[in-house]
Amino acid sequence: MSSLPPLSSLFSHPDTALVEAIHAEYRRQAEGMELIASENYQSPAVLLAQASAFANKYAEWYPGKRYYGWQEWTDRIESLAIQRACSLFHSDHANVQSLSGAAANTAIYAWLLELGDTILGMDLSHGWHLTHGSPVTLGARMYNFVRYKTRPDGSIDYDALADLARTHRPKMILAWFSSYPRTLDYARFAQIAQDVGAIAFADVSHIGGLIAWWVLDNPLDHGFHVMMTTSHKSLRWPRGAIIASKGIVSNPLKAPPKTIDHIPTLIDRSVFPWTQWWPHMNTIAALAIALWEAQQPSFAMYARQVVDNARVMADEFLSLWYTLVTGGTDNHMVVLDLRPQALSGWDAQKKLDEVGISTSKSPVPDDDAPAFNPSGLRIGIQAMTTRWVRQDDVRWIVQMIDRALRAEAKDLGWLREEVREWCAQFPLP
Ligand SMILES: *Cc1c(COP(=O)(O)O)cnc(C)c1O
Repeated sequence: MSSLPPLSSLFSHPDTALVEAIHAEYRRQAEGMELIASENYQSPAVLLAQASAFANKYAEWYPGKRYYGWQEWTDRIESLAIQRACSLFHSDHANVQSLSGAAANTAIYAWLLELGDTILGMDLSHGWHLTHGSPVTLGARMYNFVRYKTRPDGSIDYDALADLARTHRPKMILAWFSSYPRTLDYARFAQIAQDVGAIAFADVSHIGGLIAWWVLDNPLDHGFHVMMTTSHKSLRWPRGAIIASKGIVSNPLKAPPKTIDHIPTLIDRSVFPWTQWWPHMNTIAALAIALWEAQQPSFAMYARQVVDNARVMADEFLSLWYTLVTGGTDNHMVVLDLRPQALSGWDAQKKLDEVGISTSKSPVPDDDAPAFNPSGLRIGIQAMTTRWVRQDDVRWIVQMIDRALRAEAKDLGWLREEVREWCAQFPLP
């Protein structure tokens, strides 16, 4: 039996320009700190599975019902991924074919809603995501998005949400966001949706990994119909998404009635062939391995450590001179409101880039600043926790961020050296 080509054979490839870039990106990731709340480090097994022979194979429709022949092994890996996802997320069904969270959201809206239907979603500056009907996307033309907001303390005003639902009669209520450090009252959300006959959809893209082991609550346990998580954020899996849903699972070759009971099959038909077409089987192979890894107790330890680390990070920022949106965190991220520091999100991000600390600028609620230069900075600890930083290390990270933000341009070079030396203690997986 021939064996897999080792990844190292890539390093003697004659395309030196590409090999150099691949090396350099690896070095950048190893020598710097990844604190962007939506990124993570994949395991070597997950990376390798994406480079496996499954990359060569077309597999349309779903296991057992393909169009092209010889699908024995593609069926095997996709069925394993589906079973593992259902057990991890307590769902009746899981679709694992979406190429990204954005593609998954398109699919979820497309077959469950009609053109012009109303979706109740979060306001932009309060933490939403571009795929939740941003005016620059096709979704904004297709559906009518109505917005709710957070209160000044960052919580959701559920009575106001219920009023909005009664006024606008949405077909879907969308919970979860991209830049929100708190948890939600899922039962309350689901009740509001049920009272107006809407689909309750949780886009938990950021926190899927923390839900997997009950470190955070699972919306599907509290009356939600559909939950989508990207696989590469807190889950540190290949790039893609899982759509987990509750309801009757039937043969996707036949269109079921368009009712809430049939959401699982409606979603399967929406992903293929309605909105996305063909899946990438190498990604699904990697996803199946990643799901296996996530079922191991070491992943539970990881998820718990992420949340512990994030609390320490929040406390440390508060003990310095920083203001946090919502005053703290319940998940893996904090959002700094930099207005008291008279520093813009963009300037802060640039300064931190220069010392090898990767973060992302972010709006704060009701931000007056322009979208490309908002007033906040979002910082997630999930990727550095994959490198097993602990509480004391997190304090060091926060102090280094503070030093960099206060530093003059001429001092950034030696801070970068200090970051590089410190990162050497925490190798990539
Ligand atoms: C990241 C994210 C998405 C999109 O996922 P991609 O894989 O980047 O397309 C959708 N919704 C939310 C809330 C996100 O944070």
